Amino acid sequence: MSQNDQPVADWIAKQTPIESELDISIVIPAYNEQWRIPTTIIDIIDYFDERKSKYEIIVVDDGSKDKTIEVVQKFIKFRPQVQLLRLPRNYGKGHAVRTGMLNARGKYILFTDADGSTPIKEIVKLEKHLDAGYDLAFGSRALIDEEINTRIKTRWYRKILGRSFNFLVNLLILPGIADTQCGFKLFTNKSAQFIFKLQECDGFGFDLELLYIAKKANLKFKEVAVNWTHVRGSKVNLVVDASKMFLDIFIFRWRHRNIKDGAPTSSRPLSER
Ligand code: UDP
Ligand code: MG
Repeated sequence: MSQNDQPVADWIAKQTPIESELDISIVIPAYNEQWRIPTTIIDIIDYFDERKSKYEIIVVDDGSKDKTIEVVQKFIKFRPQVQLLRLPRNYGKGHAVRTGMLNARGKYILFTDADGSTPIKEIVKLEKHLDAGYDLAFGSRALIDEEINTRIKTRWYRKILGRSFNFLVNLLILPGIADTQCGFKLFTNKSAQFIFKLQECDGFGFDLELLYIAKKANLKFKEVAVNWTHVRGSKVNLVVDASKMFLDIFIFRWRHRNIKDGAPTSSRPLSER
């Protein structure tokens, strides 16, 4: 250390570090969501204000052509916790989520859909698994939960297509997972960094890819039944997107063929490795 550095070093030694860690980050991908996103953001703000959490809400605008940006900017004026990341064009949900996840600072990081189809309070059901040492916990609309099952409302054709898709997913890439597609997934900061640095799919197939990475790397993950309702205005084209996702399965298997956790028998969560 030169003599010039000494005063700075002395000054730093006397300071209390600024507590920069956030409890939680909420990432919301948004493409043309001017109508659906406002109540979702309000619910999330109310919920975390009430909990007195240190939080951030990162909305990733995926090249919206409507007034999504203006709507989000209104919230930013009143809550600095709300941030907006803007993509120059429409890339797809996977790209928007990845952008948000890699920019999030929270100890835990959730991504959730702009339509609020899973109420934010369901997060407690996921958090308790991360508190218990899991690397990620994700919502499931398929697991039978006595209390929840009576309340789930979904369209019959979505149900049939969903079940067939899931049958193939189980067979080809992710055995034992009942619902890979629920847009409500919670990660530790470390597992989010690990997974999303490897995840490349820009489209709706990204959920499959991130779960496949988690599985291949032997991360500790947990599928958890959550309350969910069908909200109108889905951008998923059942035939086109389902076919793309089917092809994605083979791409993911090839792309991530070399991932190993370095300790094949490890059942320890990522945080302990
Ligand atoms: N989304 C996105 N880019 C797209 C399509 C969708 O960021 O190109 C976002 C969308 O705004 C929403 C989430 O992805 O927050 C899920 O989309 P949607 O509700 O249409 O899908 P579903 O709920 O039917 O799976
Ligand atoms: Mg939706």
